[in-house]
Amino acid sequence: MHGPILIFYGLFWATLMRTLLVRARVLPPTCARCGLPHERRRMGERVCSCHADEA
Ligand SMILES: [Zn+2]
Repeated sequence: MHGPILIFYGLFWATLMRTLLVRARVLPPTCARCGLPHERRRMGERVCSCHADEA
């Protein structure tokens, strides 16, 4: 009787938890100016170069 409701409830929590995990650690911090990540996670990936001259 409550099967569909439990499934919907589980999917809701799965989506919510995944969003929290992405915000917490999965997604790298991105540059507020260009939107590219500061650190390269894959070879050949474009990264932020806005602060290259400041170092
Ligand atoms: Zn940048």
